[in-house]
Amino acid sequence: MALFTALRRDPDLQGISFLQLMTFTRLLSPLKNDIILCQPITVSTTDPPAFLPPSIISFVSEATGVPSSAIPKCWALLKEEVWALPKPELSNDEELFRTYGWKVGISNCFLLAKASISLFPPMQECRNAYCARINAIKKSDCRQVVIYTLGSGVLPAWAVHLYCPDCNTSYRHNFSVQDGIRTYYGDTPTYIQIGEHQFSERRLVGLWVTSMLTAWVLAGSLLRLYNMALSQQQERDFAVGGWQFEL
Ligand SMILES: [Zn+2]
Repeated sequence: MALFTALRRDPDLQGISFLQLMTFTRLLSPLKNDIILCQPITVSTTDPPAFLPPSIISFVSEATGVPSSAIPKCWALLKEEVWALPKPELSNDEELFRTYGWKVGISNCFLLAKASISLFPPMQECRNAYCARINAIKKSDCRQVVIYTLGSGVLPAWAVHLYCPDCNTSYRHNFSVQDGIRTYYGDTPTYIQIGEHQFSERRLVGLWVTSMLTAWVLAGSLLRLYNMALSQQQERDFAVGGWQFEL
């Protein structure tokens, strides 16, 4: 009720439709890690922060058509709902992310959706048992990668590394690195890193392994088959998002 009252009474929110607010909520839900990363270390990583980063405001304003001046009020009204939403599985929002998100370094993380993905480490805090740090890690490094998927072809994505300055541990999507030693997190991730800038969907790796074991298909043949039949490279303009390297 507070939402509808605010929409009716607040002059800054008048003219904003319910559909725009639904899109606002849906687009921000998968960007929780991006929102947390830009907050001061004193801000909780489990609760929605009071403010959105400028790049997120710019993106969601352009994607929804809501004036950027009204975004902070929309966030104040809807942040609890955004935080409570489970990871959505959507595909219709791909165009909004591609058009408005890529240019400011934002991609979504819908599992198996036909959109680009942000691959964060699965934790926000340092997990080194010998490290005294208790605050969330904020030092990060983003790099462009591609993901080979079974159903959606090759997708552009961002791999985000978090770095603990107290113990010099770098946390990646699949593993952490300290003193040159990789430590894998243990569970089998949905996306497995197979090269410096390449990840592959776990199901696709399974298909490759099964093809080699049961049908004696050579790795080179599997590569050609994927490029010709499954990659969907011809349908995507990766240069729009600045992905310049070869797939
Ligand atoms: Zn540490």
